[in-house]
Amino acid sequence: MRYFPLFADLRDRCVLVVGGGAVAERKVRLLLEAGARVRLVAPEVTPWLRENPAIAVHREPFDPRHFEGAVLAVAATDDRAVNAAVAAAGRERNVLVNVVDVAELSSFIVPAIVDRSPLVIAISTGGVAPVLARLVRERLESLLDGSFGQLAGLLQRWRARIKGRLPDVSARRRFYEAVLRGQVSALVRTNDLPGAERELARALQYADAPRRGSVVLVGAGPGDAGLLTLNALRALQEADVILHDRLVADEVLSLARRDADRICVGKMAGGHSVAQGRINELLLEQARCGRRVVRLKGGDPFIFGRGGEELEFLEQHGIPFEVVPGITAAIACGAYAGIPLTHREHAQSVRFVTAHSLDSMGGLDWATLAKERQTLALYMGVAGLGTIRDQLVQHGRAPSTPVAIVENGSRSNQRVVLATLAELEDAGRAAAVQSPALVIVGEVTALAEKLHWFGSAPAYWRALRAAA
Ligand code: SAH
Repeated sequence: MRYFPLFADLRDRCVLVVGGGAVAERKVRLLLEAGARVRLVAPEVTPWLRENPAIAVHREPFDPRHFEGAVLAVAATDDRAVNAAVAAAGRERNVLVNVVDVAELSSFIVPAIVDRSPLVIAISTGGVAPVLARLVRERLESLLDGSFGQLAGLLQRWRARIKGRLPDVSARRRFYEAVLRGQVSALVRTNDLPGAERELARALQYADAPRRGSVVLVGAGPGDAGLLTLNALRALQEADVILHDRLVADEVLSLARRDADRICVGKMAGGHSVAQGRINELLLEQARCGRRVVRLKGGDPFIFGRGGEELEFLEQHGIPFEVVPGITAAIACGAYAGIPLTHREHAQSVRFVTAHSLDSMGGLDWATLAKERQTLALYMGVAGLGTIRDQLVQHGRAPSTPVAIVENGSRSNQRVVLATLAELEDAGRAAAVQSPALVIVGEVTALAEKLHWFGSAPAYWRALRAAA
């Protein structure tokens, strides 16, 4: 390690800043935030520096005597000679000096920071790759939403009380872990600070009792892990146990906390596995053990995912829950196949329809679905392509309406088959389309011909037929 990282207490300490431009201004702002007394030396200074009463401005050239009483110094001029003189004077007096962006002349460097005070993260590459440091900072910025600062503030206020109640260090560590992974931080995230405070008080009171479990219903998206939300990622990393569908991609599961238990309760159309009642029971059992349960579902949990039913069950049993939406198959398949689901010239609305079974399709209002100028996104329809075609045509949709079948949308093995409504069943059969696949009906599907950008080019049913 080339530099020793530290956080300095500069409250009421004098810090010398040499330079009066925009760079100096940035450094001064930060120093003032940390409570430092700033002595600024420069013949020319910006209006903000000049007019700020908190800064002692010396409008004169730098002189080593300006170091008098300073614990740190920053050289922020664009004059190499002046910067070097500041560095030399600091070295002589054993005062640490940072020359902005010149590591060779600096005896300390200033990290990139993510500020969620009192939580502050400092990042440095030792001056070797500042752009990389900035990139890391951006990632952390997006990972740590504003609630982290509030959470840290809350713990700061409660620190003494927590220490009093739990004198044992490891008991205290366990308590903090539970608080940070559990309801308190969830409440802070939903901006309910009073609720978080109450929950923290309750948790502290029952600190020796078993912890209360909870469930996060998370949408895993269609497959591409890049389509997860930041909240989904966090839930996966906080989970004690994950109950997931078979539809959830391995790529997504690999982002979960390494030591979280995984239970596959997978259901795929046709191949029945764990019954819904049993899934509900499992959720309840796990949450009652005090665990943080993630119920992970393909796409969005509230779109043909039975998310609602599971939450109703949890609500009946008093288990607290949160929901993290995901990108549903229709949205993802449209985007990744180059099919805009609405388009001013072709479709003013889009419908998400389940075509799961003959039973469920029997209950659909086909007359409405067959109307022109709308897009249909049919989920779970692979086995019912013939029925979809017959019903739509019988109810008046033109047999020449363009359709698309998107198999494994957003995944590396995505396939898109284009055909007309009349050809839908034959096209599916010729291409041997497998689940998961989404059927899209409407003029917009023809746009895939020019707008496709991901994976292999769409296959045309006509070409498939010619090849056969
Ligand atoms: N809750 C999920 C849907 C569950 S129903 C969601 O919001 O996406 C399962 C059906 O979703 C599948 O039969 C298929 O029609 C569709 N589906 C899910 N993932 C898909 C994918 N990657 N590509 C194409 N269709 C998909």
